[in-house]
Amino acid sequence: MRKHIVAGNWKMNNDLAQSVALISDLKKQNQTSDAEVMIAPTFTNLWHANENLKDSTIEVIAQNMHFAKNGAYTGEVSAEMLKSLGITTVILGHSERRAYFNETDDMLAKKVDAALEHNMRVIFCFGEELADRQANNHEAVVANQIKNALFHLEASAFEHIVLAYEPVWAIGTGETASPEQAQDMHQFIRQTLNDKYGENVANDMSILYGGSVKPANAKEIFSKPDVDGGLIGGAALKAEDFYAIVNAF
Ligand code: PGA
Repeated sequence: MRKHIVAGNWKMNNDLAQSVALISDLKKQNQTSDAEVMIAPTFTNLWHANENLKDSTIEVIAQNMHFAKNGAYTGEVSAEMLKSLGITTVILGHSERRAYFNETDDMLAKKVDAALEHNMRVIFCFGEELADRQANNHEAVVANQIKNALFHLEASAFEHIVLAYEPVWAIGTGETASPEQAQDMHQFIRQTLNDKYGENVANDMSILYGGSVKPANAKEIFSKPDVDGGLIGGAALKAEDFYAIVNAF
């Protein structure tokens, strides 16, 4: 079923003490919207965050994982390890993983498979770069990212997937896609799903927008019919700002 979702991606921010403090601030906030709320702290903060938020409405999720079950992959974390902490949702394919850690569509397809095999939910990120948009190639780029990493799956797998459209030029730059640009792309993404899997998969898919979402612009972006939520970076690091966005629905 299509849901409203607001997920905070903390990226490589907050040490343990800062994470404890932010979670305590988050617990003081009031939710007035129907959105599902998630936060993605770094691996080192997942255990305490999840223990702390067990009885809350905030789900703690991971920013990444490896596709292998276990073994000689120095520095990596597996689905089994996340699940042993009680983490059942993972962000995959974030543009920073693609750009700085060379994550390819092939690798992401394997990560998606590994997550689904472990009954995890995936927030799958993708989005075009500025040059793609300037060349009017943005739809083709996004369609390929989705097809290459996800279109080997059965329709039923999409119940466990959330999509996050994040134009690279809008991430951390202060520049947001206009609500119309977001709507146009989200509609295109839903149509791409519809063409391959039919209308149930397309209509039930939650498609989040990410890229400089803040309290001042969230309401307008979330008012678009094909925008089902947000993946929030910078503005997720302050509890009041994050909840202003959560409550923008
Ligand atoms: P931003 O990051 O909100 O800081 O632009 C979004 C993201 O990378 O998920």
